[in-house]
Amino acid sequence: MGSIELSRNDVLENEQTAEAAKQVLTKADPIEQLYRDMIVQLGENPSREGLMKTPARAAKAMRFLCQGYEQDIQEVINGAVFSSDARDMVVVRDIELYSLCEHHLLPFIGKAQIAYIPNGKVLGLSKLARIVDVYARRLQIQEELTNQIANCIQKYTDAKGVGVVIEAKHMCMMMRGVEKQNSSMTTSCVLGEIHDDPATRAEFFSLVRR
Ligand SMILES: [Zn+2]
Repeated sequence: MGSIELSRNDVLENEQTAEAAKQVLTKADPIEQLYRDMIVQLGENPSREGLMKTPARAAKAMRFLCQGYEQDIQEVINGAVFSSDARDMVVVRDIELYSLCEHHLLPFIGKAQIAYIPNGKVLGLSKLARIVDVYARRLQIQEELTNQIANCIQKYTDAKGVGVVIEAKHMCMMMRGVEKQNSSMTTSCVLGEIHDDPATRAEFFSLVRR
């Protein structure tokens, strides 16, 4: 038997292996390689046991933390806007919030306080938390995140007024540079009557103040 002669089975097997390798290649997230390169640039060895699967895990984590880019707010709300005669301010407190600062790609973590004054329509309660997640799971600055959440609620409920307050701690402040470990940042966005009417505005801020 000649040494370069391959049986039909060998050929099939090679084709299958090539196909499998191709699938692995096409499946691999391009971000994995970027993390592998980063690990090398940081002076680490990406082949050591503890780091072997890190690029794949980190890429998956980053995709998750940025999945808001893939999500359509209309689909998220998915008809959960209900007719209602409610006229008083609806307040939802302490919605947990996890986001990434767009300046350092480090987390900022906090809570959102949300209120709106219905104008014939209310939003399913769980949807407020979903709206927060859709905008938080992007590269963000806290000020914009606050505005986007408020404007989204305004748009889909046609509320008479909307107020959003976010208080968050930024890892880029706490872990590096100035290392102000107990500092937190508060941002707010008020629209409609909550913006225009001093009494309503005062009511909002007293309801969400801790
Ligand atoms: Zn930052």
